[in-house]
Amino acid sequence: VRQQSLQVQITQFGLDQKVMLVRDITERKRVETMRQNFIADVSHELRTPLTVINGYLEMLSDMELPASLSKAVGQMNSQGQRMKSLVNDLIQLSKLESAHSERDGEPVNLKNLGHSVVDQLQEYGDANIHFHCNDELQINGFSDEMSSVLSNLITNAVKYGNGSDVDFRIERQSSGVRVSVTDQGMGIPAEHLARLTERFYRVDDSRESTMGGSGLGLAIVKHALEHHDSVLEIESQPGQGSTFSFVIPNERIR
Ligand code: ADP
Repeated sequence: VRQQSLQVQITQFGLDQKVMLVRDITERKRVETMRQNFIADVSHELRTPLTVINGYLEMLSDMELPASLSKAVGQMNSQGQRMKSLVNDLIQLSKLESAHSERDGEPVNLKNLGHSVVDQLQEYGDANIHFHCNDELQINGFSDEMSSVLSNLITNAVKYGNGSDVDFRIERQSSGVRVSVTDQGMGIPAEHLARLTERFYRVDDSRESTMGGSGLGLAIVKHALEHHDSVLEIESQPGQGSTFSFVIPNERIR
């Protein structure tokens, strides 16, 4: 017997009329799993040759070369690094998209994690990152995934923040722990907000492609937050800046 996935939708018409729609989504799920496996396999296969190419390019860029060649090697080197981070992001995203076997996770100290992410990123770009966290907040979660979330949000705030200071806060509130990252940079027009966590979605492709990044960062954030029973919220004013935030619910606090 074929295992079936059914999607049930109940729609209310008027006061006492309800219509139940039952849809077989088995085929859609199968195609989605095939797509995920394909992306995971291709990105793994690309990693090895890319490591070899990048290794030789790094070696070449350390050598004395004629000016014209040196420029070409420099460009190949930076594009090679860009491709490496794209492949790594694709691998990370396909891992996050596949089913999570473990639900609860391990103890994660958000204050320590926040400090270590800020330390790693302090040299990235010109912006000052101000980190505020008063409590030792421990949650049940996944340290690597939470670290990717913080690092993607802070990197974006620096990248799109036009050099403004970045405010990074972890605060206790009644519904859980709120984490927020605010910049006073270019902001995002309202019509783009709903689509920002889609893979490869960028507000302005020609502008963003010169800024590095894969267009996968916020998709990674979205999936990692789902594993923490949380969702990304975005508030933004074009020309004034953005706040990306999420709340880890009380059930996850230790
Ligand atoms: P990218 O690698 O392009 O940064 P992301 O998935 O991290 O990909 O972000 C998707 C898009 O969302 C970015 O290309 C940019 O247009 C927009 N974006 C993300 N963070 C910010 C921010 N802090 N300010 C303005 N725009 C942002």
